[in-house]
Formats: sequence, structure tokens, C-alpha cells
Amino acid sequence: MNRTTHRPSATVHGYPRQGPDRELKRAVEDFWAGRSSADQLLTTAADLRRKVFQQLADAGLGEIPSNHFSLYDHVLDAAWMLGAVPPRHLAAAQDARPGTPEHTLAVYFAMARGTEQAEPLEMTKWFDTNYHYLVPELGPDTAFRADPGKPLTELAEAKLLGLTTRPVLLGPISFLLLAKPAPDAPADFQPLTLLDRLLPVYAEILDALHTVGAEWVQLDEPVLVQDQPPAVLSATARAYRDLTSATRRPKLLVASYFDALGDALPVLARTRVEGLALDFTGPAAANLPALAAIGGVPDKRLVAGVIDGRNIWTTDLEQSLATLATLLGLAGQVDVAPSCSLLHVPLDTGREHDLDPQVLRWLAFARQKVDETVTLARALSDGRDTVAAQLAANRAARASRSASALTFDREVRARAATVTAQDTHRPQPYPERAAAQQARLNLPPLPTTTIGSFPQTDALRSARAGLRTGRIDHAAYRTRIEAEISEVIAFQEKAGLDVLVHGEPERNDMVQYFAEQLTGYLATRHGWVQSYGTRYVRPPILAGDVSRPASMTTHWYRYAADLTHRPVKGMLTGPVTMLAWSFVRDDQPLADTARQVALALRDEVADLEAAGAAVIQVDEPALRETLPLRRDAHPDHLAWATEAFRLTTSGVRADTQIHTHMCYAEFGDILPAIDDLDADVISLEATRSRMAVATELAAARYPRAAGPGVYDIHAPRVPGTSEVTDLLRAALDHLPADRLWVNPDCGLKTRHWAEVRPALEHLVTAARDLRTTL
Ligand code: GLN
Ligand code: ZN
Repeated sequence: MNRTTHRPSATVHGYPRQGPDRELKRAVEDFWAGRSSADQLLTTAADLRRKVFQQLADAGLGEIPSNHFSLYDHVLDAAWMLGAVPPRHLAAAQDARPGTPEHTLAVYFAMARGTEQAEPLEMTKWFDTNYHYLVPELGPDTAFRADPGKPLTELAEAKLLGLTTRPVLLGPISFLLLAKPAPDAPADFQPLTLLDRLLPVYAEILDALHTVGAEWVQLDEPVLVQDQPPAVLSATARAYRDLTSATRRPKLLVASYFDALGDALPVLARTRVEGLALDFTGPAAANLPALAAIGGVPDKRLVAGVIDGRNIWTTDLEQSLATLATLLGLAGQVDVAPSCSLLHVPLDTGREHDLDPQVLRWLAFARQKVDETVTLARALSDGRDTVAAQLAANRAARASRSASALTFDREVRARAATVTAQDTHRPQPYPERAAAQQARLNLPPLPTTTIGSFPQTDALRSARAGLRTGRIDHAAYRTRIEAEISEVIAFQEKAGLDVLVHGEPERNDMVQYFAEQLTGYLATRHGWVQSYGTRYVRPPILAGDVSRPASMTTHWYRYAADLTHRPVKGMLTGPVTMLAWSFVRDDQPLADTARQVALALRDEVADLEAAGAAVIQVDEPALRETLPLRRDAHPDHLAWATEAFRLTTSGVRADTQIHTHMCYAEFGDILPAIDDLDADVISLEATRSRMAVATELAAARYPRAAGPGVYDIHAPRVPGTSEVTDLLRAALDHLPADRLWVNPDCGLKTRHWAEVRPALEHLVTAARDLRTTL
């Protein structure tokens, strides 16, 4: 490649799929509900794709990707393309004639959502993003088969618009490592052992794409930014040696994102693939010195991810240009891109009419990021002068952000600066606290409680919608919520639970509810981002310094506490989770943002305590999921995360009991961090793993109280009393009765009262029966 003749151009890895008004969600859900045909769905989808192709072309991208669209999930699409369809899902589509769109969609959505007879594929988080993918199931019997229909169709659709796109496929190493053993495979089956069987299928797909004119194909290998053993690195080398050996094939661009490639960089650099796409933002900035250290990739094209593809801030274009200037000397050809698919950000700031225009220009959603990418490419290819206006506007936007009162609140900063070790530690050791709490609460052994939320009924949802549209006023809404609280309290008293909750009926979402009441957070009107399938969320934007103008929960707490003589838990979302499920600021370390949120929540804890709460729960379900992808970054991360939790909770008296809750059972290496939270009681999911978590806690000599869940709230099933008893017995083998709590796995908001009532009654009966045997 000739360095002097290539004009850097702009490209992206992928674009939001949903359409400007989430047309895709409606189209897919209409199809599911039988309100539209397979053809109608496919036509809508093709229409949306065409619009995106055209829009990206109009915006000035030099190369447009295809096959990043999905009706549900791109990992599911990859499984489909490779013929990795579980037999149970094929069987689920018996009604439709094979080969028809009806049949294809029936099988596809059976994999995604399951059917009466067939469990869906498992869903899990896509790296450290809030997107969820479907986990392919592979076993020794998996017979791969190339089905390049989707990438071919999308390539052809773009061709009709006069565009030669770059199909994006999940790469073979990532596909195998993201998969799990099929139900009938040995549990220790390693999908990577299927590599030799898989590569010819990839080769066939690449050949098919080449035949119809694809010049480049992108293979995504994000698993390579995680710590991988030598076996994976050598498999990577082998895979790309194999895929580049074909005489007739498209050029290959191997893409990675979310972190630096580390040891995988020299491995990929040595392969004969024609291009690498690397992330140079956030922790992945480490790719730059690493690339320099190996002497660059002079024989390759580098697609440089210099715009953060997963956050929503206007890029510092000058800084990106500086990075690009260095990169120009390190590759045969450099093109500009966001760091990853823009799937993780909302579509367009242009529709956020409720946001202050001053603030709006700090933000860049997908559409704006495309423009930024084009601007950078133009600066490289045609000179800075050609984009002088854009650069000036960018500088002004960045300056207005750093000078704003929203991002700099003197009082908040002063308070955060004076936090001492004393503020983050409870003065009394746990045994002393436990005694004081027992004296105050006088709970029986095996105390029973719930995780916080009770069923969110239709009446509640409709009241919330009514408040939004003005159909009902605040007073009517409040009355509705209070009625719900009364019902929840009355039920818990009757069922005989020991520590009650108010049921969280006022919360639309455990993060949004608080974000709406804290300064520093912004809410969007159209900022939808795909969480999974047809589920979209609107994450709040943590834009400024955080403070709490007024108490957020004490009104509801008091209302509930006045209805009963039993203790009612105060209920808050923890600082780490408040960050994890929001877009966070990029102009200061996460640790600083966490500290500000923690201080605001600390005040709320103090208010709850003053209102009489003897038990306060601070939920941190996101603690583990925020972990950096590279293990060497874990200690620093966990240090500030646990400190923020302790800053939130350690201002209370010895006899105030702090609970926390996490939704998962496998701690792996974060158990020391969980210990570091110093919570008096922790509740966790444990039912499905049959109390494995109790064994783990015991093995680690966890010194405080724990409530491993005994009611699986993810399914409508109601556990019988003896089943709960068995689980509690299993837990008692590992944890002493005076430190074992009895509770469900998680909140009950997604369940129905008809299930929750008997399930909690059984839970209380089981605990009471067991108490008599102690
Ligand atoms: N307190 C919350 C609830 O019960 C906890 C939810 C969660 O852990 N995700 O709904
Ligand atoms: Zn939970």
C-alpha cells in the first residue's frame, strides 16, 4: 500500500438498528403478536436498512458497513449464518413450511425467545456494555453450515443504492468463545475445539461475499481485548492464517473494541489480514504505544477508532487529530472511525428539544458521531482548513462544557475533596454492630425479608402514564402509590415477614427514579438504546456535579413505616449501579463521579435513619458488571467502587443495619470486594445454583450475615414449602443460623401477585418450621 496516495476516509462499525421512532421494535412486536406477516416485517426491516445506508452515504462516510443490522441480535445472526441452530428450536417451527420466511422467522425467534416447548438461548451481557446478546450453544455434534443469506441480501440492497459496503461478521474466535456448551454436551466441552470445523464455513461465506463484489469484509474479534490464554492466541493465528490462504477472497479487516488488544496485537499484526480496526479511546488508548512498540503495521490498513463509540459526549477533535497524526506513521493506510458500533448510543441529539441548547452541543449521539468521524477524515485528507468551522464549533462546545455551572459546583467539589478515611468506614467492627442491631430489632433467627419491589401492576403503570400525559395530577398519583404501599404492607404483615419493604411502587426504574431527583443528571426524550431484542432503555446522562436538593425516599418510607410496628427497610440504589446504568462523564475519573453520587446518597441514608429506619438497603446489582475487561485493572476499579459504597453507608449508627443486594451468585474473584463493602447483611441470587453461593461464602469465611435467595423470581413457578426448607437446610450446612437470612433471589416487580402471595407464604412457613428445629 502506498502511504502517500491513500486519502483517509471515514467509516463506522455499525449503527443503531431501531429506526428514528423505534419502528423496528413495533414491527417485530406486531409480527410476534400476529398483527403483521413475515413479509411485512422483512419489508420494514429492509426499509430501515436502506435509510441508514443512504443517510451514512449522505453524511460523507467513505466506506459503509452492512450486516450490522439485526432483527434481534447480531450474535444470534452469526449462529444462524453458521448453521448453529439448536434442534429444539428447529422443531419448534413445525407449523411453517421450511424455506419460507415464516419458517425462518419462527426458528429465529424461537432461539431468541423460546416457545412453550423450547427454552430460548441464554442471554448475557455483551462485554462491559449494557447490550445483551444470545449465547450460541455448541457441542461435539454441532455441524456448521454456511448460510450467508443475510450478509448477501444486505450487500445487494446497498448495491442498488450504488454503494459497495463492507459486510461485518462476528469473527470465528469470538463466535466460539462467546458460545457455551449445548445442554446435551459435556459441561466441560470447549467450543474452541470446533475451530477446524468452523473455518471452512467462514471461508465459504467469505467466498460468497467476494463473488458478488465485496471488496472488504470485517471480522469482529472483541474477545481478544480480554485476557486470553496462549491457546486462544495461537488459535487466532491459525484461524487467520487459514482464512487468508484462499486465493480468491475479499480483503479482511479484523476489528477489536472496548479495550486494548494486548498480547493479541502482535499476533494479529503478523497475520496476512489486510486491515486492523483498533480502539484508541479510554483504556484502549494503550493500543497506541503498543502499536508503536511493534513498529506499526506498515503493510496494513488501520481503521482508527478515535471517537468513543459507546458514550455520548462531543469528541475532543483536536485530541483525536493528534492521535491520528501519530497513527499515520504507524500504518500503511489510516481511516477514521468511532471505537465500536454506534449501537450503544442513541440516534440523534437533534430531537432533544427539552435539553438546554448549551448542554445539547456537548452531546454527540450516533448521527453526530458520524459527522465527527467525517470531519476528522476530511481534516486528514483535505487539510484542517477545510474543516476549520467544525473545529472551531467543537472547541467552543468543549469550552462551554468545562466552564458550565452544571459541570462545576464549588460546594460539591469542596465536600468531595474533604472526604476522609473516617467517612468511609463504620467506627464499630461488625460483631459490635450486630449485637447493637439485634438489641434494637430483636429479630428471630432466620429472619425473613424481600429484596424491595413488589409486583408492578397495570394500575400502577397506568397511573404513571397518566401522570406523564396529565390525565391525573400529582395528588391523585400520590394517592395511588400510597394505596399500593398500604396493600404491600398489609400483605407482608399477614404473611408474617420480619423486615418489611414499601414495595417501590413509585419507581419506574431503580436508576432513573433517583437520576430524576439528583442535580447533575440529564434525561433524554428520545435517547433509546437497545438493551436486548425489542427492549430499549433510555439511560440517564450523568453530566455534571451531583447533589441532592431534597430527600428522595423518606416520604414513602414514612408512609409505610407508619402503617406497621415491624421494621421497614429504607431502599436505595447504590453509587456503582447509579453509574453503571447511565452514560457517565468523561471529563473526570469515574472514581470522582462515584464519590459525588455516594455523598448525595449518604445524605439520603442519613435522612432515612433520622426518619426512623433501623434497616437500610443499598442495592449494587451492577458491582460486578462494571468490572474492566482486563484483570489488571480490577484492583483500582474495585477500590473506588467499594469505597463509594462505604461512603454511602458508613455514616449510620451502630444499631442501624445496612443491607446490600446483588443479583448474581458467582462471585469469582470479587468476593474480597464484597467483603470490603462491610455491609451487615447481603442478599444474593442462589436458587438456581442450589446454594452454591453459601458454600462459597463459607469457604471464604465471610464474616457477616447473608441471605442467599430461596425463591427464583425469574420464573412464574411458585416454590413449595419443602423446597424452600431444603434450600435453607443446604445453606445452614455452611452458614450459622444467626447469620442466615431468608429472602427471594431478587425484587418481585416482574412477577404477579398470584405467584408472589403463595411463594412468600411458603418462604415464611419454611423459616418458621426450621426455627423450631434449631
Ligand atoms: N430493590 C430492587 C428491587 O427489588 C433491586 C433490583 C435489582 O437487584 N436489580 O427491585
Ligand atoms: Zn437483584
